[in-house]
Amino acid sequence: MNIAIKNQTIQIDGSQGEGGGQILRTALSLSMLTGIPFELFNIRAGRKKPGLMRQHLVCVQASQRISNATVEGAELHSQKLYFQPQQVQAGHYDFQIGSAGSTILVLQTLLPALMMQDRVSQISIHGGTHNPMAPTADFIEHCFLPTIHKMGITVDFFCEHAGFFPIGAGQINATIHPWTKQTKYTAQDKGKLLDMVAYASTLNIPTSIADRELEVLNNKLDLTQRKRLNFRGISQGNTAFVVLNYEYHQQVFSALGEMKKSAEKVANDLAKEVKAYLHADAIADEYLADQLLLPLALGKGGEFTAQVISEHTKTQAAMIQKFLDCEISFENIGNIYKVSVKV
Ligand code: AMP
Repeated sequence: MNIAIKNQTIQIDGSQGEGGGQILRTALSLSMLTGIPFELFNIRAGRKKPGLMRQHLVCVQASQRISNATVEGAELHSQKLYFQPQQVQAGHYDFQIGSAGSTILVLQTLLPALMMQDRVSQISIHGGTHNPMAPTADFIEHCFLPTIHKMGITVDFFCEHAGFFPIGAGQINATIHPWTKQTKYTAQDKGKLLDMVAYASTLNIPTSIADRELEVLNNKLDLTQRKRLNFRGISQGNTAFVVLNYEYHQQVFSALGEMKKSAEKVANDLAKEVKAYLHADAIADEYLADQLLLPLALGKGGEFTAQVISEHTKTQAAMIQKFLDCEISFENIGNIYKVSVKV
């Protein structure tokens, strides 16, 4: 890992780029890894409700706990934060979000620092597991983790209880192993499509919703299989997702049920996303693309193709290059992009 600046507090403007929570989470991850303190201002200035929301605050508190950091401004709605970490400690941790905030985003904040330790960590996080505008537990299990495993990162993941807005009360458990064998990730070709499986689940609402979604997905897509999943938990909600299993890549698209949106519309929109991906000759979808940059920059670098380069991905690249001495570039090739991370 090549550190860009040493012994100097990094100033970060939270309104840059797409101005979301990712700036905070990436700053926390990289500060813990490099030991560089940061001062973040205009936190989430690009969002309707700016400042630290509960999920962001838990990211700060959890990071503070694993790295014994000195922190100022860690309060709800705070738009300014100072964070100075010490040594990260692997271990057993349990974090409560106390709302339906995303457990997955907290996990993604802590993962880089914990996987770089020489001991295993076990963490449980309580809150939302299926949130809008965040990866779902299913996306993490079937797409993000299998992809980073190709770089040598091993995380055993289990969604113990599903948690939907507004009650949450979900739980994820993760065992994070030391990243001992780093492998360069070069993925230009996803290979042949081996199978395409649709899953749907309801929690404490009629199971017919999941059946209707699977029916639409089966009509719209050339599925190999469709499966209804049973979730445990006390909140109410619904999700459907499609796992596309290629020779060299596994991609997931997921959707959440919404009030006033029919099960048919949820499944139709999901099928459209899957079709767009099937027609694109890229490895990563928009979301996986931004999530892969940090593991690549921390390891041996690499290349992959992406369907879309979002403002989010560009902001993530800028953040990583503030802390680490690496070069991230995006090249437009036809209607897809080649992403390169040189370390
Ligand atoms: P932010 O909006 O800055 O809080 O960051 C949201 C994070 O959630 C980003 O890393 C996105 O890639 C990820 N994300 C948002 N929607 C999805 C989705 N449908 N599937 C997977 N990841 C997602």
